[in-house]
Amino acid sequence: MPKKKKETKTEELFAEYPNLYMEASSDDIDAAFAFADEYKAFLDISKTEREFARNAIATAEDLGYKDISGVDTLKAGDKVYTSIKGKGFAAAVIGKKPVTEGFNILGAHIDSPRLDLKPNPVYEDSDTVYFKTHYYGGIKKYQWTTIPLAVHGVVYTTDGKCHEICVGEKPEDPVFYISDLLPHLDGEQMNKKASELIPAEDLNVIIGGIPLKDKDLSEPYKAAILKLLNSEYKITEKDFVSAEIEIVPAAKARDLGFDRALIAAYGHDDKVCAFPALMALMAQEKPSRTCVTILTDKEEIGSYANSGAQSVLYENFLMELLAKSCGGVDSFNMLTFRKAMAGTKMLSTDVTTAYDPKYASVFEKRNTAYLSHGLKLEKYTGARGKSGSSEANGDFVAQITDIFAKNSIPWQTGELGKIDAGGGGTISCYMAKLGMDVIDCGVPVLSMHAPVEVISKIDLYYLYLGYKAFIENIR
Ligand code: MN
Ligand code: MN
Repeated sequence: MPKKKKETKTEELFAEYPNLYMEASSDDIDAAFAFADEYKAFLDISKTEREFARNAIATAEDLGYKDISGVDTLKAGDKVYTSIKGKGFAAAVIGKKPVTEGFNILGAHIDSPRLDLKPNPVYEDSDTVYFKTHYYGGIKKYQWTTIPLAVHGVVYTTDGKCHEICVGEKPEDPVFYISDLLPHLDGEQMNKKASELIPAEDLNVIIGGIPLKDKDLSEPYKAAILKLLNSEYKITEKDFVSAEIEIVPAAKARDLGFDRALIAAYGHDDKVCAFPALMALMAQEKPSRTCVTILTDKEEIGSYANSGAQSVLYENFLMELLAKSCGGVDSFNMLTFRKAMAGTKMLSTDVTTAYDPKYASVFEKRNTAYLSHGLKLEKYTGARGKSGSSEANGDFVAQITDIFAKNSIPWQTGELGKIDAGGGGTISCYMAKLGMDVIDCGVPVLSMHAPVEVISKIDLYYLYLGYKAFIENIR
C-alpha cells in the first residue's frame, strides 16, 4: 500500500492577517502599551533629525557604544557608532561570525515633512512680523494653517559657534501660527482647487507684533524681533543663511481613543520605525552576525546630500566596521567589502499607508495594510508599473517570513494603494545598489505626512519584536 499523503487542512490554505488586538494576550497588550510610552517620550524630544540623531547617540553611549573614529580594531561584542553630519546616525554591534560574511542591517529615516525657513525669512507687514518658509517634503499645505507651531533648529555664526533654538514645546513657551481666512469671507477661496487653496508663498509664520518705539525706523516691528533674537541667540539677520531652522507642530504625542489603542503625533514617518530599529540594536550583546542600525536624513526630499541615504558616509561606516574587524584600516580590501555587501541582509524600515475606509476608492482592499494588523512586508514599492522600486528577491522574502513564523511575529502584506493612483519610494534602492538583499517593512500610518499622523501601539510593538527577530536570526 502506498503511504497516504498528509493533507493540508482547508483553513491552512488561506492567508490570514488578523487584527492583533483580537489575537494578543493581555500581557502582550500591556507590553505594547509600555513600549508605546517609551516611544512617545523619545518622540517628544526628537522632532527633528538633529534631535533624533543626538538622542540616539546619547542612548548608545549610555549602553557603552564608542565613536568608531576613536577605535582601531573591533572584536565580537564591541559596540560602535558614528554621527552622520549630526543629522544621520549609524551604529553596530560586532558579531561572532566573520564580518566578511555580511551584516544584518535595519535602516530607517529620521527626517519628517515640515516647513523650513527661507534664507531671508524675517519681514513685517501691517504691524505683524513673519517668517517666510519653504516647505520640506510632501505636505498638504492647508493642513499647516491655524495650528500651534514650534521653532526648532540651529544657527551657525562665523565665529564657529552653534546656537540652538527650541521654542514652543514647554507649557510656558509661546507658539507660532499661520493664519487662514474666516468663513465669512472665503467665498472666492472655497471655489479654488484644494491644491491651490493655500499657496506655498502664503505659508508665512507669525512671530511677533510689538514695535521698537522709534518713529524713524521704517520697519520697527521687524527691528524689535531682530533685537530680541540677537539678545537671546546672538544672531543677526544675515546669520539666517547659515541656519537650519524647522517649523514643526507644537503638539506632543498623545494616546488616541477612549481605549488608547492608537497614538496621534507629529513625525511617525519615519520615527515610528527609527525608534524600534534603534532599540532592537540596543538589545544586542554578542550577536551571531554583526548587527547594524542606520538612521538617515533627507529621505523626504530624495535621500540626497551627505546626510541622506545616497551618501557614501553610510557606506564608509560599513567599510570601517569591516576594516577594523579585519586587522585595521590599512588591511582594507575593496573586493572583500563588496562581497560582504553581497552577503548583507537589510530591512528598509519605513511606514506605509493604513487603509482608510473614508477614502476606500484609492485602495485595493485585498492588497493594503490595516491598522493593528501588524508590520507590513512590502516586496516592492514604486509608482505606475513599479517604477523606481527596489523589488526584494523571493528567496529573501521567504527567509524573512520563515523567521517571523518561527518567532511568532505577525505580519501583513500588500501595496501602497491602487495601481496608477500614485506611489512612493524609500531608501531601499540605494542600499540594494551596494549588493545587499533589502526589503521594505514598516507599520501602517493614517494621514501620513499630516502635522499629526496616527499609528497603532500593537503594530509598533510587533515591529520592534520583528526587527529583533530579523537581526538575531537572519543568516
Ligand atoms: Mn518615510
Ligand atoms: Mn514620508
